[in-house]
Amino acid sequence: MKARFEPGEQAGFGALQGHVGNADLGESKRFGALQQSRNDLLPDDLLGPRGLLILNHPPILETRRLHWPDEAACAHFAQTLAAQPDIVHARLELHGPLGAGKTTFVRHLLRALGVRGRIKSPTYTVMEPYRVTGPSGQPLDIAHFDFYRFTDPREWEDAGFRDVFAQPGLCLSEWADKAHPWLPPPDVSLHITLQPDDTRELHLCAHSPIGQRLLTLP
Ligand code: ADP
Ligand code: MG
Repeated sequence: MKARFEPGEQAGFGALQGHVGNADLGESKRFGALQQSRNDLLPDDLLGPRGLLILNHPPILETRRLHWPDEAACAHFAQTLAAQPDIVHARLELHGPLGAGKTTFVRHLLRALGVRGRIKSPTYTVMEPYRVTGPSGQPLDIAHFDFYRFTDPREWEDAGFRDVFAQPGLCLSEWADKAHPWLPPPDVSLHITLQPDDTRELHLCAHSPIGQRLLTLP
């Protein structure tokens, strides 16, 4: 069984060393130990109690931009991604403010992967698990996380989240920033920006070879 995370794919996770993007995430700056004077550059939730950077991003190996004029475009992208062989062992993070469309994208992806029935948002449960038949006929486990209410680090162990991320399958995380530094690095991060005309700009970042392959979309 292939490990979900190979050492070579795990670069860039040193303590107090981060890869922090600006609002446009296309340009990223590497910070060492971050001093208070630089804190105004960072959203509050990236900072620890003493004002030091606690969120570490893996390197960005590749990026891609998309535009979703409507939800049908989001659904189409989800279907394309679901057809990629690497999706069955990927970690995806969905970033964007409330209402950006993170859960909607996950719902379309889960539907495209064969999930039937109601797809609840894990806002209160933190995690919703699914099992479908994967493309190869084998069971595919999928975990949909929403870490918005994740506040107790003990939950990471007690609720078995560590095990979920260590097992084969697909992990989809909303509000991943709130679970750092426990969360392993993603293969792909999707940053959704809601535009004034209700369309969405999407910035995709690949952080591993799996992520790079996933971004090689037709
Ligand atoms: P989030 O999980 O980021 O908070 P949701 O997925 O719950 O956001 O979406 C919030 C609202 O935006 C929903 O009413 C949904 O129908 C709408 N929405 C989501 N994605 C799109 C999209 N790509 N195009 C148009 N409307 C969308
Ligand atoms: Mg949501």
